[in-house]
Amino acid sequence: MEIEPLPALDDNYIYALIANGDAAVVDPGTPAPVEALLRRRSLRLQTILLTHAHGDHIMGAAPLRAQTGCSVVGPAGSGIPGLDREMRDGERIAVPGGELLALATPGHLAVHLSYYSAAQAALFCGDTLFGAGCGRIIQSNAATLWQSLQKLRALPPATRIYCGHEYTIDNLEFAQHEEPKNAAIAERLDQARACRERGAPTVPSTLAEEMRTNLFLRAESLAAFAALRARKDQW
Ligand SMILES: [Zn+2]
Repeated sequence: MEIEPLPALDDNYIYALIANGDAAVVDPGTPAPVEALLRRRSLRLQTILLTHAHGDHIMGAAPLRAQTGCSVVGPAGSGIPGLDREMRDGERIAVPGGELLALATPGHLAVHLSYYSAAQAALFCGDTLFGAGCGRIIQSNAATLWQSLQKLRALPPATRIYCGHEYTIDNLEFAQHEEPKNAAIAERLDQARACRERGAPTVPSTLAEEMRTNLFLRAESLAAFAALRARKDQW
């Protein structure tokens, strides 16, 4: 399976999973980048996977479904209209070249799924975990997001993290403000800036890299995590 990030809207990523002329996409917030990919590579769109109900992750689903007849899959209880299948924690879904396991990762919103492939060492985590950061708590609470991050921490360190937004530099600048003497954070910030200057995405990172430099993922208590999240909100 080939995984291609498609930059979309201001700073979103749609992910295309491609094998044998078929494709699935995760979180199409707008149809245009997916339409261009399907044309350019002559791919058939089979499935759209949605992580959560925010418009910048779902607005491309209905037009792409109308054009291609693909099925749309998303979290049960999310209120997203037009789902062909509602997924719950622990359920699996076939995608081109493999399958994905749904992991409930609420906390950004009360209902949020991530999609994981052990075989591909890949996690599509929407707005739960970002490069060096985590999602804002919009419709839930710190304890819920903390629990979701604990679940992601337990995945294999080589897992590649395909997150919903290009927020890595902002998150690393905050991390450096928190830990000005942390060499791993300084080094990752240099790398991320160089990456963006040449127009490349900073995603995917790996879980191992996040464990070194993501203060939210590294936080060792709920209280420390909640305080950190509150400081980032005010930053
Ligand atoms: Zn969101």
